[in-house]
Amino acid sequence: MSTSDPVPSDDAVDAARLDPARLQAVRDTGLLDTPPEESFDRLTRLATMLLEVPATFVSLVDAERDFYKSAVGFDEPLASERELKGRTFCHFALLSPRPLLLDDVLALPGLAAVPNVRTLGVRAYAGVPLVTPDGQILGSFCAVDMQPRQWTERDVAVLTELAHATLREITLRQALVRLAEANRLRAEEMHKLGVLNERLSELAHTDALTALYNRRAYDQELAREWRRVQRNGAALSVLLIDADHFKSINDQHGHAVGDRVLQALAALIQRSAREIDVAARIGGEEFAVLLSDTGATSALNVAERIRSQIAQSDTMPVTGVTVSIGVATLAAEESAASLQHRADQALYMAKSQGRNRVVSAPG
Ligand code: GH3
Ligand code: MG
Ligand code: MG
Repeated sequence: MSTSDPVPSDDAVDAARLDPARLQAVRDTGLLDTPPEESFDRLTRLATMLLEVPATFVSLVDAERDFYKSAVGFDEPLASERELKGRTFCHFALLSPRPLLLDDVLALPGLAAVPNVRTLGVRAYAGVPLVTPDGQILGSFCAVDMQPRQWTERDVAVLTELAHATLREITLRQALVRLAEANRLRAEEMHKLGVLNERLSELAHTDALTALYNRRAYDQELAREWRRVQRNGAALSVLLIDADHFKSINDQHGHAVGDRVLQALAALIQRSAREIDVAARIGGEEFAVLLSDTGATSALNVAERIRSQIAQSDTMPVTGVTVSIGVATLAAEESAASLQHRADQALYMAKSQGRNRVVSAPG
């Protein structure tokens, strides 16, 4: 449409303005009600200089108002509010992707009714529609003059270039927002995965019946402690704890009661071990405690405390539950496997000496 064309009907203009797909595209820019930004203001300032017009702006035509992402050369309140309600020239630009050139809006009777003509004193308008790759017209890149003006081909060419640059800025920004959102989702997924992995590793290291460490975790901890001792020369002891005549507990009371006895044993052992000690169920009715920074005498004391607490316990599902304990303390230049083996031998001796007792492996 230009000054020489007939003015389109209000109905036709509003149908284009209120088209839901177009309004969605406008909202999708993410620019409505955002503050002014240099990247857009630079383009409007450039247009003002190149065309030598008093005012230029980037309009986004929303349902009930035009929002100006950038507006140069207007007085208050438009300069701050950056929006206009009611009919504007930009609405007419929604009907066609071609530039809308109005040399003298007063020469078109239909346009004299546009409030901007009165309130802002606009006489000439040139707008190049901002068309998305999907063909939606978001608004226009516009220049206005307060007196009639014959827009030149060069004016139109400049506005067209700047409209392209503006649209590029809009789509780049959208891509950045989408990227940030995708990154946020990815980080969220990674976090969930991390939590799951942690839980999985916890499960892989935990004995299901007693919630103590399992054999695999115990072996890892023993290896870790052994390496630590190689570096700092600290003491390290292990206790091997085996329930006495457990088979007959199962036989007398049933397997389910046997399980509850194992849980009660685990709880007692766990409570007797300090926070830093590793307590594990390493076999059917066999437990191990790793005592870091603990020499032979202290280890023997801990073992004796555990043994007597179990023998005297009144929280056991059945009476007469006892354990035998083998104790070994790491010697100089000894391997972790040898330490474990000596504890096993001590346990064997405790069994053969009559059970319900603690035996220390010879140093
Ligand atoms: P000892 O004093 O020589 O250690 O005799 P014991 O009967 O404890 O030793 P043995 O190795 O002969 O038997 C161990 C029993 O522990 C046999 C097995 O059925 C039982 N057992 C192993 N794992 C479980 C379990 O998870 N639950 C229950 N209820 N019993 C178990
Ligand atoms: Mg046993
Ligand atoms: Mg056993």
